[in-house]
Amino acid sequence: MKLISIVVPMYNEEPMVPIFFERIDQIIDDLSHQYMFEIVAVNDGSKDKTLELLLEVQKSRPHLRIVNLSRNFGHEPAVAAGIKVAKGDAVIPLDADLQDPPEIIPALIEKWEDGYEVVNARRATRKEDTYLKKTTAKMFYNFMTKVSGKIKVPANVGHYRLMSRRVVDEVNKLPEKTRVLRVEVPYVGFKTTEVVFDRKKREAGKTHYNFKSMFDLAINAIISSTLSPVYWPLTLAFTMTGISGLSLFIQFILFIINAANNTLLTRVNHPLWLTINMILLIGSLILLVLAVIAIYVGKTFNESQGRPFYIIDEVIEAKKEED
Ligand code: UDP
Ligand code: MG
Repeated sequence: MKLISIVVPMYNEEPMVPIFFERIDQIIDDLSHQYMFEIVAVNDGSKDKTLELLLEVQKSRPHLRIVNLSRNFGHEPAVAAGIKVAKGDAVIPLDADLQDPPEIIPALIEKWEDGYEVVNARRATRKEDTYLKKTTAKMFYNFMTKVSGKIKVPANVGHYRLMSRRVVDEVNKLPEKTRVLRVEVPYVGFKTTEVVFDRKKREAGKTHYNFKSMFDLAINAIISSTLSPVYWPLTLAFTMTGISGLSLFIQFILFIINAANNTLLTRVNHPLWLTINMILLIGSLILLVLAVIAIYVGKTFNESQGRPFYIIDEVIEAKKEED
């Protein structure tokens, strides 16, 4: 029987733990004659009783595996840790708050059985999201589509998706430490399709995302998929060099005319203009040099962040019955 891993990051999800397992149990029961399941719950340094509750849940659910991180690392690292520990033939990361409805898991699996290696769960609606989140998300995905070139980062696909074992192995093999799953999976490629769903309200508890964490996610996503921002100063430098060059040229012509015809253009050919032009020219040259350096720094930065993205304290498996 094929094994399906459900990876769920949990940070202070005390009120969600019982609700989550109730809903997931239902899905697993419905599919239990065809598939085996494991739930990999990653406790991301919760300060409430999430871990205790998970340990309690594990007593009656031997398919629950608990990955306890050494501290709070964040959503993305928690998912990465869970995916690394997961053993399934297919792996499905899912939020604990049930904003990603587990009811579409059978549809995800079906597409996988049809031969797709990646089945994205795309949010059709964001009715429940705030205006700020809606607009920033839209900007982010538009930007990603523009800059990521050959990598097609699908809009409105978060963590929720099914990945085949091959895809998970390839993602785990990627050498970078700063992981952004929604960029890595399209980077890895393979036959991909999607299932559409309505994003629901959080069932209980509250969001851990604020503007700063969304901004960080966006920066990491951009940095990990493109070097194009590093080339912007270069474009700017060329433009400025062009403008100041042209300006100096005009000034030179005026100077010649002025020398010939001493009265007419004296006011236009003011020394202040020369000063501004010189500043522009020097500024452009400095930018040009900086731009070249920035390209190297950007490349090096991508490679040099050698720290682990998460640290696992312990993987707690259910106790096997002794026989
Ligand atoms: N989460 C986590 N570590 C964190 C923050 C969040 O593991 O530092 C988990 C959280 O428990 C939830 C998921 O990541 O399962 C998504 O978080 P949340 O619902 O707060 O994000 P939102 O849906 O508002 O984007
Ligand atoms: Mg949520």
